[in-house]
Amino acid sequence: MCSVEGCERPHKARGFCAAHYKRVLASGDPRPDEPIRAVKGIHEHKGYRFVPVPDRYRHLRTIRR
Ligand SMILES: [Zn+2]
Repeated sequence: MCSVEGCERPHKARGFCAAHYKRVLASGDPRPDEPIRAVKGIHEHKGYRFVPVPDRYRHLRTIRR
C-alpha cells in the first residue's frame, strides 16, 4: 500500500505507489494533497470509473458484445 495518506494504490517502490513514486522521482515530493489523475479522460460517477478505451482495444469490446 502507498504510504501517502489517503492513497490506496498498491505499493510500487520506496513506499509509494507508481503514481506517487513518479512524482518523487520527478520532483522529490509526492505532493500528497494533490489528487492523482493518471490518465486523461478518466472520471468517476456514482462509484464507477470511466476510462477511455484506446482505439487499438475497441475491437475487443465489439467481440464481447
Ligand atoms: Zn500513492
